[in-house]
Amino acid sequence: MKRTVTKLADGRELIYFDRDESAVRDSADLRPLEPTASLSEIRRDPATGDWVTVAAHRQGRTYHPPADECPLCPSADGRLSEIPADAYDVAVFENRFPSLAPGAPAPVGDGDPLHVIAAGAGRCEVVCFTADHGASFADLTPAKARLVLDAWTDRTAELSALPGIEQVYAFENRGAEIGVTLAHPHGQIYAFPFTTPRTAKMITAAAEHRRRTGGNLFEDLLAAERRDPVRVVLAGEHWTAFVPFAARWPYEVHLYPNRRVADLTGLDEAERAEFPEVYLELLRRFDRLFTEPGDNTPVAPTPYIAAWHQAPTLHGEELALHLELFTIRRTVGKLKFLAGVESGMDAFVNDVSPEAAAQRLREVAS
Ligand SMILES: [Zn+2]
Repeated sequence: MKRTVTKLADGRELIYFDRDESAVRDSADLRPLEPTASLSEIRRDPATGDWVTVAAHRQGRTYHPPADECPLCPSADGRLSEIPADAYDVAVFENRFPSLAPGAPAPVGDGDPLHVIAAGAGRCEVVCFTADHGASFADLTPAKARLVLDAWTDRTAELSALPGIEQVYAFENRGAEIGVTLAHPHGQIYAFPFTTPRTAKMITAAAEHRRRTGGNLFEDLLAAERRDPVRVVLAGEHWTAFVPFAARWPYEVHLYPNRRVADLTGLDEAERAEFPEVYLELLRRFDRLFTEPGDNTPVAPTPYIAAWHQAPTLHGEELALHLELFTIRRTVGKLKFLAGVESGMDAFVNDVSPEAAAQRLREVAS
């Protein structure tokens, strides 16, 4: 892999990842861009302890541009995008409208000890999986998917080493139903200056499990799923995908390396080599989940969220790298909305049994 670091016109960093070691990425960004200022702040909810990011400066961001103005396509024919090169394999750049940014100024609090406030000092990056506007992650070749994995790994190593960063979160939102504003296949990375609420709960659950059993929660739960594979969707030599026992979403799969590692930087070569075939197969199955009534034609694309869980830099010793992949689609034409019960109380009601979901995800194997 070749890595080329450059700067966009407004000073943001752009990093190209190429499979070809001889690739030259030296095109300059010719757009007259002014640097943007981030006024983001983080506030701690005194009632729950959860951090909330307040990024009130983001309202002017790009919203559903037409395909010929896509900011993630390569620059070509005089049309200048976020990527100055006329081609690329994988490109990562700092978001122009970040929720969290390195230079966010320290906010002035009101002095009330219940009102804990700090700068939204982190970093938000955009990961372009391919230069092909009409493709999706599932269309990538295994070699290209491997390059994305290597790019995620590189960003995890670099971002987690930045001062003040506690957790690096790589994810993909796919589909307009999820609220994706750009159709081009891409994901994002958030480098948080705090540990996210879901991870904080996992730290508490893992500590409790250790006290009770002496074992590691994630090793024990993966071993149990493999022993009784009723919810296992796909078992590779180095990775296992299963529907979690208490799945929250209609179709939800958790993908773990069989050997527990803290984050992407801990994966060895054999695990990296097997990841693309396992993950691409899961994504293809997601696109085959829903078919037209009376017909086997898949209703694609399936909207999904793919979320990498990585151990934070603080108190993350018991955690395990894994990917959580889920769709908000329940059935053809019906989405699962987070309504009163979920949004109001964080209490999920799932209309599909996890065992039936696992069965369906095995049926649609290629
Ligand atoms: Zn595009």
